[in-house]
Amino acid sequence: MKKVFCIGELLIDFVAENQGKDLSKAKEFSKKAGGAPANVACAISKLGGDSFFVGAVGDDPFGTFLLRILENEKVDISLAQKCDTFTTLAFVSIDEDGERDFVFSRGADKELTYDSSLKSKFENSILHFGAATALLGGTLEETYSRYLFDGLTKNAFISFDPNYRVDLWKNKEDVFIRKCHSFIEKSHLCKFSLEEAQLLSGKENLEDACKFFHEMGTQIIVVTLGSEGTLLSTSNFYKTIPSIKVTPKDTTGAGDAFIGCLLQQLAENSKIEDVLENEYLLSNMVARANKAGAITTENFGAIESLPTVQLLDS
Ligand code: ATP
Repeated sequence: MKKVFCIGELLIDFVAENQGKDLSKAKEFSKKAGGAPANVACAISKLGGDSFFVGAVGDDPFGTFLLRILENEKVDISLAQKCDTFTTLAFVSIDEDGERDFVFSRGADKELTYDSSLKSKFENSILHFGAATALLGGTLEETYSRYLFDGLTKNAFISFDPNYRVDLWKNKEDVFIRKCHSFIEKSHLCKFSLEEAQLLSGKENLEDACKFFHEMGTQIIVVTLGSEGTLLSTSNFYKTIPSIKVTPKDTTGAGDAFIGCLLQQLAENSKIEDVLENEYLLSNMVARANKAGAITTENFGAIESLPTVQLLDS
């Protein structure tokens, strides 16, 4: 089984309770673990995969809390770093219509330093870049580029999820697009939401968008479409794989559960290139990943809602 290295942020989401959208009126917050790459690492280990989290938290109680959660989920945290800066915090309120108010206090996640000894571990592995905060600058951004280069030179399979956050990129979408393109052209697999696929390709039509990404160099594109399932595109086929029917309570983490489940299945194959050419196998993998995403929406929270193998097989 291949190792999967999930690189990027782990942070605290303080979610405001019972006050509508206006954060200035919020009195109570609940503390939740956040960070897409960390969620993906948990999704993989929960399904029996071998996942590593590579990211930085503060040497403070929040950092301890976050790493403990990952450890409980059997994610290997030996490559995580604790630094002097405080753990990154996001304060968020969401009203009934999904409108958000957001304050982001960026700390330790941006401080991830490059470790040249990881290069040898990347041999024949999978590297997942879940770029939400990584492209915002800091040491992490440079570390990201260096690990991407190391992964490519060591024949690692590269997976990229841009994790676009409107609140983080307001009025600088062009910078986001440019930074994402440098990852898309080097990735074997890209996972987009519909909004991301359109934003990053500049195309309304999804088939045109996928063509654009394939021409950039990506072999597999998956575009997650919520209850509609997932669009799967390779140079040989283009199809929508339906999801299962569920009654969603909270969609947080569905995309991370999806990509985690897909990577965990790819990791079980010694020759990923063979899978890429096998439409039947790849479609089945995406169908299973759809199920993982759907199950995650049935409960509140991200990590706590990720499915186990038993649940996925039931
Ligand atoms: P995130 O905001 O977590 O990054 P995302 O937008 O990438 O999420 P979604 O499309 O919400 O991801 O969900 C990922 C996958 O989970 C979908 O492709 C689908 O297979 C499944 N899924 C999500 N919501 C539902 C739903 N309401 N019903 C059935 N399946 C769902």
